[in-house]
Amino acid sequence: MNDLFLKELKEAAGDAGIIENEPMMRHTTFRVGGPADYFTAPDLNRLPELLHVCKKHGAACFIIGNGSNLLVGDKGIRGLVIQISDKTGEVSINDGRLKAGAGMLLSKAANMAANAGLSGMEFAAGIPGTVGGAVVMNAGAYDGEIKDILSNVTVLDEDGKKRELSVEELELGYRRSCIAGRHYIVTEAEFLLKQGNCDEIFAKMEKFRGLRTGKQPLEYPSAGSTFKRPEGYFAGKLIMDAGLSGFRVGGAQVSEKHCGFIINKDGASAKDIATLMQEVSEKVERRFGVTLEPEVRMIGEF
Ligand SMILES: Cc1cc2nc3c(=O)[nH]c(=O)nc-3n(C[C@H](O)[C@H](O)[C@H](O)COP(=O)(O)OP(=O)(O)OC[C@H]3O[C@@H](n4cnc5c(N)ncnc54)[C@H](O)[C@@H]3O)c2cc1C
Repeated sequence: MNDLFLKELKEAAGDAGIIENEPMMRHTTFRVGGPADYFTAPDLNRLPELLHVCKKHGAACFIIGNGSNLLVGDKGIRGLVIQISDKTGEVSINDGRLKAGAGMLLSKAANMAANAGLSGMEFAAGIPGTVGGAVVMNAGAYDGEIKDILSNVTVLDEDGKKRELSVEELELGYRRSCIAGRHYIVTEAEFLLKQGNCDEIFAKMEKFRGLRTGKQPLEYPSAGSTFKRPEGYFAGKLIMDAGLSGFRVGGAQVSEKHCGFIINKDGASAKDIATLMQEVSEKVERRFGVTLEPEVRMIGEF
């Protein structure tokens, strides 16, 4: 990319600035990923101009939240990475409706709902993503998912135009939505919650956090469940029954605590993790005839 592109990117990013060759391992919970050519975590009002500059120069633009569902290749990302980060997170609560900026951590929004005596977001307490990332993934756990509580979403389209979308328009399904396919950027989400009892809400959140600590390998970097749950099965159980608990490729390992998690046990590369995912899928398919589909999103060059 040329100097003019960088100059225009810097102007568009404003105070957030543009970092060149930013290691993506700093921005993913797997703690792997090579450098992004350009990286910024701007104010949301800077997004249309950043999109415009990328389009004008034919550069790719990737949106990330907290990087908790991402596997970024070791060779990194060509183009601009825009992180929709917590500093853009604002929240308002009115009449049972909680409106949060896309960069706010979902767990923080869940805590705010609990403090306001609003129930429905308890399931989100231990999910380490942003509000935007959770809408994109239709994140869920235990007894709930985003789809159950979402009432309205604000996005920017590819041309940087603001659009309000209803839940139906998002085509939310199991760990999916139409957002990535349409190149929308989520900037705000509104959740419709029910009046509840603060103590009971916090107790439920605490219970869910405890279940996670007991069952999940939270002491190691990961991206949560590596594979989606295949219809009628549990990915972790299939992997365990295939004898793959503790199975390793380089520094990546199938967690012995929860086989549904691939962990960065010991300085894994993205290639290690991707190869392990591939081998696990092949072995499970051969043994049980069940196809495992990655839940983790793979981006960049491997
Ligand atoms: C320990 C652990 C436990 C987890 N437990 C759960 C769980 O119980 N349930 C669950 O569903 N998930 C779980 N996850 C996975 C992950 O936290 C969720 O998928 C989360 O919703 C991802 O949010 P994020 O902000 O980190 O998104 P990222 O990982 O940064 O991005 C995910 C996708 O969303 C897109 N995206 C992110 N923000 C935006 C935006 N504002 N606009 C447009 N596109 C955007 C990205 O381009 C990418 O395609 C877990 C992960 C870890 C590490």
